[in-house]
Amino acid sequence: MSRIFRITRLRRLALLLSLLASFGSNAAAQQDRRLGSITYHLRMTRPVSHLFEVSIEVELGNDTAGNSIDFQMPKWSPGRYAIFDFAKNVQEVSARLACPAGLDCTFPNSPVRRLDDQTWRVDLGVHKLPEKRQILFFNYKVFGNDLSGTFSQLDSRHANFNGGSIFMYVVNHKPDPVKLTIDPPKGWRIINGRTDKSDQREWQFPNYDVLIDTPTEIAPDWTDDQFQVDGKTYHVVVHSFGDEGKKRDKLVSDIEKIVRAETAMWGPPEFDSYTFLIHFAADDHSGDGMEHLTSTQIIEPGALGEEGVYGSALDTVAHEFFHVWNVKRLRPVELGPWDFTRPLSTRGLWIAEGITNYYGHLMKRRAGVWDDAALLGRESQTITQIENAPGSHLMNAEDSSLSAPFLDDAPHAQQTNLDNTSISYYPKGELIGFMLDLIIRGRTDGKVALDDVMRRMYEEFYLKSPNSSYYLRGRGYTGEDFERVASEVSGLDLHEFFRLYVRDVTMLPYDEALRYFGLSLVREPARQPYNAGIGIDYQEKGSLTIGVVHPNSPAEEAGLQEDDEIISLGKKSISRENFLVSLARYKQGDRVPIAVKRDRKTIQTTLVLGAPERMEYRIEEKKDATPQEKALRAAWLKG
Ligand SMILES: [Zn+2]
Ligand SMILES: [Zn+2]
Repeated sequence: MSRIFRITRLRRLALLLSLLASFGSNAAAQQDRRLGSITYHLRMTRPVSHLFEVSIEVELGNDTAGNSIDFQMPKWSPGRYAIFDFAKNVQEVSARLACPAGLDCTFPNSPVRRLDDQTWRVDLGVHKLPEKRQILFFNYKVFGNDLSGTFSQLDSRHANFNGGSIFMYVVNHKPDPVKLTIDPPKGWRIINGRTDKSDQREWQFPNYDVLIDTPTEIAPDWTDDQFQVDGKTYHVVVHSFGDEGKKRDKLVSDIEKIVRAETAMWGPPEFDSYTFLIHFAADDHSGDGMEHLTSTQIIEPGALGEEGVYGSALDTVAHEFFHVWNVKRLRPVELGPWDFTRPLSTRGLWIAEGITNYYGHLMKRRAGVWDDAALLGRESQTITQIENAPGSHLMNAEDSSLSAPFLDDAPHAQQTNLDNTSISYYPKGELIGFMLDLIIRGRTDGKVALDDVMRRMYEEFYLKSPNSSYYLRGRGYTGEDFERVASEVSGLDLHEFFRLYVRDVTMLPYDEALRYFGLSLVREPARQPYNAGIGIDYQEKGSLTIGVVHPNSPAEEAGLQEDDEIISLGKKSISRENFLVSLARYKQGDRVPIAVKRDRKTIQTTLVLGAPERMEYRIEEKKDATPQEKALRAAWLKG
């Protein structure tokens, strides 16, 4: 299909969608519906100011008199579901009219009015427009100094941007094709997941949603290593702020192994090239991973050469690359196109993120980057995390997904009880995926696997469904769709599984699932059993402050509260460093005097240590596993 035809079709669809969107809204009804091209110009003339300079060039129709155009900053961006209100970093908003080259148009500056916390309106009403099309430039600056998968950073070293945090959309014109031009500082090179020639400074996108799906790196000194799998080109773009310890070659070759393992499950992806955009921030705090259609943005807080950083980077790679299919294309029905004026609500993040977490780990094993013990150890840690979380008894996987705007790195100005009441859909969904896979494999004697369910989902909803919107191929699925497909593909009635473990808080069926594979789950008290229900606030540096008191715990019985500063235990003064060790000297039933500071007063009370609160879980191989069980295990681990 030619580009011109595609744009015409999209334009018609855009018009239809904008008519639908404006129905019932007076403000929107006044919006100009016949805009021409929309082009984003991005400059960064003073990197140390952290100010991105954005100019949105909009070609106006010649019947815009009496109309206005609204520009809106998203409240959040796809992949991270907390509300961040990117508009708070916007400054110096202005607009002006200009003419196409060669024409003389004398128009005063257009008035810009702020409508609400995320919207700016340009009134065109006072101007009588000439026959020829007019060009409106809507200009602003936006501050960005966070290296992350959601925010943007401009400083003396680089520009790294995520479009949702710097680009406004034209209200009612999100479906329109857009163009981006970037004018980088001298000597800085630009790369993103849609770069197809060197020194590229212009990009075309089918719509705003794809524009902001294309995180971009601009710096003088990033590296680009490449490899090919199934005729597709993969770029490993690395920007290191610390020592790489000569590990980059191995990183690239392990990433290739992971790509081979994941494409072996799904088949060749539909893109021609894909970019891993990786930062080793070496600042001990910036860490993130974000999925996109043809790229991923990965930020590690350490330097590549440092202990533990390499493995963490590969973890993120395996997870984010799995998102190429699960979430970016095969997606819950609410995930695109998006309404950036309010938080997202979906029950499906345990599938989109949790099952991706499960496969991220499994794929490290299938790629040969991990051995069996590493995978089983990681899943054991996740079981320990979930089974010890008080929120596991209160929040199911769908509720957790719906709570994403509160959980996903959300800032809280108000005190919350989420530590006691919530669980994350990442580890909970990971365990549901893990159990679902083993139970399907076990009950079907290895004939069917979760792999088959995921492939069928991809085929049915992404590849074969008619497009449900301008945004992407196919349509999204509901939780009921996933349950139906899992049951159909496996030939099992999985309704009880979904009722108990997805929509309720019943403990997952570890014993049945592991038994098919000659594995068992060992449960024993954690090494420091008597933490007494106190969670230390590790943000509060310098003092030993209680961050959370677990419900029905010795700490709660003793009347302790969050924000109490612990000053002595067993009549001895105490610090953050020796708190757990000191507590571990006592045993069940001991009465331990504790003193805390609250409201400038010292309060003495007594902890009566109860039964060990925290348990540790470990998946072990059974000595008497049968050859059939071992064969089932090998098929699962090797894919
Ligand atoms: Zn960079
Ligand atoms: Zn993810």
